[in-house]
Amino acid sequence: MDCAVVTGAASGIGRACALRLAESGFTVALLDVGDAGETRRLVEERGGTAAGFAVDVTDEAAVAGVVGRLPGPPRVLVNAAGIIIRKKLLETSVQEWRRVVDVNLTGYFVLLRQVIPAMAAAGGGSIVQIASIAGHTGYGFSSYTAAKGGVLALTRQLAAELAEQGIRINSVSPGVVHSGLNRDTLGNEVIRSATVGNIPLGRIGEPDDIAKVVAFLAGPDAAFVTGADLVADGGMISTIHWGK
Ligand code: NAD
Repeated sequence: MDCAVVTGAASGIGRACALRLAESGFTVALLDVGDAGETRRLVEERGGTAAGFAVDVTDEAAVAGVVGRLPGPPRVLVNAAGIIIRKKLLETSVQEWRRVVDVNLTGYFVLLRQVIPAMAAAGGGSIVQIASIAGHTGYGFSSYTAAKGGVLALTRQLAAELAEQGIRINSVSPGVVHSGLNRDTLGNEVIRSATVGNIPLGRIGEPDDIAKVVAFLAGPDAAFVTGADLVADGGMISTIHWGK
């Protein structure tokens, strides 16, 4: 059975993507530095199949080992593993900067390097990279924003490079979504209501709002779409200041 490789699959957006792709008929390979057991349980509860792999996406040898043991030929890759350090530039150490860029950008590169040859050998496929509205705007923190801007640029760059191998590549830029990444900040009622006030659709996103977009880009309905970024943010960055 064709395999969909999903990083960051133990939580939030990665988990929701794994569930959607399993519903589309893929065996999902769940890659995460944390325990993806709960995601696997949820996939199987809904009649899907999944295999979990504990791996740090920045460790190329470990990722190569996982790609050699996938439960089927990889036809979809979703790069979603991410971290954030909420610090302004001058408060960010070089070590913190490197870690954020390492996971959010170099980790995507490592997965691309390891999965693309197998995907091409399988006859092609579709890659979806989770970027962020932070990569489009000044809404965020420098190390994270720079890494996400890099994801957008890398995705555009690869569209032409991968087309000849039958591979499409696109990104999704979520706005503010309930997940492990921002559980603490959204737990603060002042931050939460100020955030909702800046979202024209009037609510924080759910991981499945993003997974639906990812499933579309990964699937046959997006057969003529490559090198694109789809912003899924409830209208947040289309307005200068909504200020309800
Ligand atoms: P999350 O914290 O719920 O999930 C991130 C997952 O990535 C976790 O399971 C974590 O263990 C895993 N991970 C972290 N470092 C890893 C590593 N080195 N190797 C393997 N796995 C690792 O957060 P989320 O919001 O679901 O994040 C998914 C993606 O969405 C990230 O790329 C994030 O930057 C992006 N994003 C999130 C939001 C949001 O508001 N939640 C907005 C824009 C973009």
